[in-house]
Amino acid sequence: MTRAPVAATGSAYIGRFAPSPTGPLHAGSLVAALASWLDARAHGGQWLVRIEDVDTPRCVPGADRVILQQLATCGLHPDAPPVWQSERGALYQAALDRLVATGVAYGCACTRSDIARANAELGRTKPRHGDLVYPGTCRPDRGGLGARTARAWRVAVPEGTAGMWPWCDRRLGPQSQALDQAVGDFVVRRADGLWAYQLAVVVDDAEQGVTDVVRGEDLADNTPRQMWLQAQLGLPHPRYLHTPLVLGANGEKLSKQNGAAALDLRDPVAALRQAGAALGLALGDATLRPGITVADWLALAVPAWQALLLRWEAALVNAG
Ligand code: GLU
Repeated sequence: MTRAPVAATGSAYIGRFAPSPTGPLHAGSLVAALASWLDARAHGGQWLVRIEDVDTPRCVPGADRVILQQLATCGLHPDAPPVWQSERGALYQAALDRLVATGVAYGCACTRSDIARANAELGRTKPRHGDLVYPGTCRPDRGGLGARTARAWRVAVPEGTAGMWPWCDRRLGPQSQALDQAVGDFVVRRADGLWAYQLAVVVDDAEQGVTDVVRGEDLADNTPRQMWLQAQLGLPHPRYLHTPLVLGANGEKLSKQNGAAALDLRDPVAALRQAGAALGLALGDATLRPGITVADWLALAVPAWQALLLRWEAALVNAG
């Protein structure tokens, strides 16, 4: 007998898919969309779509509409009208005001070269992947802005054990990150005035009542920052599940940036099959029926997802 997984949050399940409209969906983003949809369906929950268009220089005009159309072609219909982050600045501002009022956020006047210089003086060099940790120049407890003008807003992450953020991923199991060493005082409002992903995602997940975040594993190391921000803002923590990454032929993560081709949706079932295979769904022969509709394929994929959740859960129990 198979046991249907139950959301640990106790509240009704709300999941979401949150694409950035930097281009059409590619094979990797369909995997995240499908996984989040399947998990919502498997829990009898709601599935929302949020267009994450705060980083306007990276957004491609019209890509949001293309993405919504691609999702519809794959039978992935949101249970409520999609929201656009570009229309939600007032919510992000209110969160920043709160972080400033509680002494968590502070203004920072440093340019990139200021940060590079201060880090060089400390003997720190930029890692090959990732950013230099902010050296803390403008932190109020290290002297603050002085006479300089704030360009960006950062949050002061605690050092030492207070900054060690443990969390548990539904697939990856127990994780932890030393916030001060891994990311340092991160930006919540950028020098160009744009809202940073970390703040927008936390505010929106809470405002939309999201109980479960299901997204690609490349975002897993953002989770401690987001959970820590939730704690600073008094917001509940969703559960997190990070799905296996789809790698390109060169072994690198597929992304719009490294030229992943747009999905070929002339045969949406074939695209769903590929996404299901990337997740590791064990789909029965019924899903191979010639002429199967998208809706029938998806209905058969829900129990396969439930079985996959149980396999991941068992693997964690065995590993622990
Ligand atoms: N907008 C992000 C992206 O497309 C995903 C954010 C998230 O799921 O938290 O990479």
